Amino acid sequence: MLHIGCHLSAAKGYTHMAKEALSIGANTFQFFTRNPRGGKAKDIDPWDISAFLEIAEKENLYKILAHAPYTLNPCSADEKVREFAYMVMEDDLMRMEYTPGNYYNFHPGSHTGQGAEAGIELTAALLNKILKPEQTTVVLLETMSGKGSEIGKTFEELKAIIDRTELHQKLGVCLDTCHVYDAGYDIVNDLDGVLEEFDRVIGLNRLYAIHLNDSKNPFSSAKDRHEKIGEGTLGMEVITKVINHPLLKDLPFYLETPNDVEGYAEEIRMIRSAYKDIE
Ligand code: FE
Ligand code: FE
Ligand code: ZN
Repeated sequence: MLHIGCHLSAAKGYTHMAKEALSIGANTFQFFTRNPRGGKAKDIDPWDISAFLEIAEKENLYKILAHAPYTLNPCSADEKVREFAYMVMEDDLMRMEYTPGNYYNFHPGSHTGQGAEAGIELTAALLNKILKPEQTTVVLLETMSGKGSEIGKTFEELKAIIDRTELHQKLGVCLDTCHVYDAGYDIVNDLDGVLEEFDRVIGLNRLYAIHLNDSKNPFSSAKDRHEKIGEGTLGMEVITKVINHPLLKDLPFYLETPNDVEGYAEEIRMIRSAYKDIE
């Protein structure tokens, strides 16, 4: 069954996002846990949460994906920056437990000159502080494009973070189609090969979610600029292969393309008609 959603504004709460998602043909969604700049999160509204949980159950919403502010840097050379990422992520994970059993995605960070190895150590150290045995949320490391000094641009780097994390059962990976292509994984000409490599290095059992984006940039550009579905260097043919791939087709797909809600509605229609549901 197709699980498709897009990035929505969290400004009006969970119930509003659920209704908005349903109104555009989505059965899940992604949202920022707070202002992307990393400001204070809104207080949890128990009425909003219980109304949301009711709708989610009644309408069969699939797992929702909370995205950490993309400005956090868990592996900065600056201790204050790392401390801020720690505080925000710890608070986010506490809040996630009000909507149990969902996903929390974050960018592994930028090593800011210390080297990838040092970055991997620092991000794993942060995970070792915030993951709790009793949490129901799965924390997802996002595959990155490798712009600047980003870590997580290779499957090996993601695997190294997982290996250094004690409660690694709480960790998974979110594969961003734009990022992996920009990072040098050729999903246009060899999707099977890329997935084989993912399986060999990380294990496909760690793959929980797909960020479904086209890319504005050529292969291996290390750039990270998302394009509308079908209008970029991946193209509709590749997107169609991704959503129908036997190893991917049951995962949730979250669009993060440059669109307003109407644009997302149109893309979701396109994705639905390209999805070959054989059950
Ligand atoms: Fe992201
Ligand atoms: Fe992404
Ligand atoms: Zn991106």
